[in-house]
Amino acid sequence: MLQVKDLRKEYVTDKSVITKALDGVTLDFPETGMVFILGKSGSGKSTLLNLCGGLDKVTSGEIIINGKSSKNFTGKDFDSYRNTFVGFVFQEYNVLEDYTVAENVALAMELQGKKRNREEIASILNEVEMAELASRKSGTLSGGQKQRVAIARAIVKQPEIILADEPTGALDSETGTQIFELLKKLSASRLVLVVSHDRDFAEQYADRIIELKDGKVDSDVVCTEGKEDKKEVSQETGAAIEPLAERKETEFIRARLPFKHVLRMGFKSLKGKPVRFAFSIILCIFAFVLLGLSSTLMFYSEKSVVVETMRLSPGNYVTVGKGFETRLFYHYNDGRVEENGDSLRKSTGFTVEEYEQFQRKYPDALAKVSFFNEPYNFELSSDTWDYYGTIDQYVIANPSLKVLAGRLPAASDEIAIPEFLFNAMKLEQTKFVFVTEEDVAAGQLVNESAPKHTVSTYEDVLYSQSNPATIFVNGGAQTFNFKIVGVYQSDKEPAAYKSLKRAVENGEDTDTGDFPEQSSAWSRVRDNGFYSYFALSTEFLMEYGHLYERKPVVFEPHESEHSWEEYQSNYTQTPDSIIDGIILKHSHNLSKLNRIVGLAYEKHADDSYFTVNSPVLSELNQVNRQVGLFRNAFLYAGLGLTVFAFLLMFNLISVSVITKKKDIGILRALGARSLDVFFVFFVEALMIALVSSVAAFAFSAIICYVLDIMMIKTIKAAIFVFGIFPMLFILGIAALTSFLATLIPVANYTKKSPVESIRMP
Ligand code: ADP
Ligand code: MG
Repeated sequence: MLQVKDLRKEYVTDKSVITKALDGVTLDFPETGMVFILGKSGSGKSTLLNLCGGLDKVTSGEIIINGKSSKNFTGKDFDSYRNTFVGFVFQEYNVLEDYTVAENVALAMELQGKKRNREEIASILNEVEMAELASRKSGTLSGGQKQRVAIARAIVKQPEIILADEPTGALDSETGTQIFELLKKLSASRLVLVVSHDRDFAEQYADRIIELKDGKVDSDVVCTEGKEDKKEVSQETGAAIEPLAERKETEFIRARLPFKHVLRMGFKSLKGKPVRFAFSIILCIFAFVLLGLSSTLMFYSEKSVVVETMRLSPGNYVTVGKGFETRLFYHYNDGRVEENGDSLRKSTGFTVEEYEQFQRKYPDALAKVSFFNEPYNFELSSDTWDYYGTIDQYVIANPSLKVLAGRLPAASDEIAIPEFLFNAMKLEQTKFVFVTEEDVAAGQLVNESAPKHTVSTYEDVLYSQSNPATIFVNGGAQTFNFKIVGVYQSDKEPAAYKSLKRAVENGEDTDTGDFPEQSSAWSRVRDNGFYSYFALSTEFLMEYGHLYERKPVVFEPHESEHSWEEYQSNYTQTPDSIIDGIILKHSHNLSKLNRIVGLAYEKHADDSYFTVNSPVLSELNQVNRQVGLFRNAFLYAGLGLTVFAFLLMFNLISVSVITKKKDIGILRALGARSLDVFFVFFVEALMIALVSSVAAFAFSAIICYVLDIMMIKTIKAAIFVFGIFPMLFILGIAALTSFLATLIPVANYTKKSPVESIRMP
């Protein structure tokens, strides 16, 4: 069943000297029996054995296994051949030292795609007299014991051929005898090919002795005297070494290293060098964090930056506006119509219906209306104007406003003032004036003679029989006077407002000079939305809203320097878009913010769009433009770091592969595929990649957060958003890097024959 024909193997050494290790060997081996190969050192014995076992490549000639020629074998076929047909026993044992005795045997079994069978393993270990040491780590065994493990590992595969290269070379003669006894037993049902230089043993055990000299067969003798012994031995054979009858054809079992071994070997290898592991993880984390930071800019999304900035900003309100985008058309005199390609943005308002839709989604949504001019019954010093900001702004009250005194307006002639304004009135004391209805009728508004009113409690600003607290405003052609029925809380106050309030409470001089943050702080108060807004009732909206309808937008065609007329598209603003904007609470909750900011990115079928306005956002426009400029620089930096991370891991895996080359050789000798070997190291690389990615996620998120907080304070924008894309990017790069960093060194090694891997210094 095993034949070799005109087998030649030449080695080319450094000085391009060709060594003919085998020089035309032709042999026909029996199905069973113990065949010894003798010869001086360097005569080619090991070479012959390795070639027979598919551990090394032939220079020329062929090996015929069950009539099948190795000439047509691929590398994979050789893997399968080793896995299926051959069991190896080496002089230097080559057991996996990290594995226990039983595990070494089990691995060989599992490589053949069989389930680990405890009974079978036990019976084989019993056969080699190793049953008691089954759970010992192989690294702690004596030479003779390791060799028994190697034999057990060979026979668990039930191979048709056992190849043993000086199996007793490193053992004392008594142990050597035991090993030969064992091999002799095994040879009853299979071919056992033994390389030895010990003629005495050969003559004692051999069924046939082949002698090599200078790579050629020198003699080939069949021994006839040990027949009786052989019969006796064969009767003693146990279950594990029953004759192999089932397998008639040359069918190869493709080896498959079970995943748990892949994992285990990968982890083992990491555990074996904790310092190197820790060091490479630290370096990888460093590279990945830098990659994470630059990828936040590579995947910079305006929307997420807006959301992040708003989340970290102290703002309280966001105003949503509506506009529409018109398209421009050329209407030629000959009747042709062509789109100009330009567009024009015009802001519009919301209808009451649209406002109600907002309210369903955001119960605290307030409608902002600008029906009136500023109230004309206030007299304020010009300094103090800064405190009030704009007070010609009006919102429609809804139950989400918290009432501090009185109630919310319920009739069309009622108004509620913000706490902010109340405090400002308190500050102004003598300058706040309510004029009477008679004064109004007489045309005497705020003047020298008008009664001054001191504001110190809520009662002072609430309308009653004795206190005609009224706000007068002009709205269009009409004059309105509103009774002040309540003071509402203007929600969370910005820091500047707080210091104003503190000053009032402490009775300090409230000149603006007392407020160190004055100008910027106060403009912040002003910008921040509706601190100084008056609140009107829904009834007012119903009753008088129609007076303030917008006119539909009609664009007049006009003559251009060319002979065509220019029109805008036929979009007309809804005439009842009487609500200027909708004020929403500035949420610091990420998903809510995403929804709010998302409004600005919605696509509407009618070419209308929403704007989301917040003081934060005007700053952001600036930043967005600049980030656009830096983006490419960051991209290249990120890619550079990726290469760095790759080289780092490549080096690590290469070193790991080199230190484990012997194990690779052993696995390959057992029949494991190159792919299996790849996975063992890939697990190692992937572990490093995963651990460092996860750590890099954490560090990147923290660093981004700190950077953002710092940026909010300086440029008022948070641009480092460590979201899902940077994470996926790091993971992807990490996986790809570990893949390539494993593939290249492993491919380099598995290209070599198994015997080269084992022997390599
Ligand atoms: P043996 O096992 O009989 O001692 P080998 O088969 O190991 O002999 O070696 C046969 C010849 O081939 C020797 O001359 C040896 O130096 C040479 N040889 C073996 N392996 C290599 C190798 N990897 N590279 C170069 N020469 C080798
Ligand atoms: Mg040798």
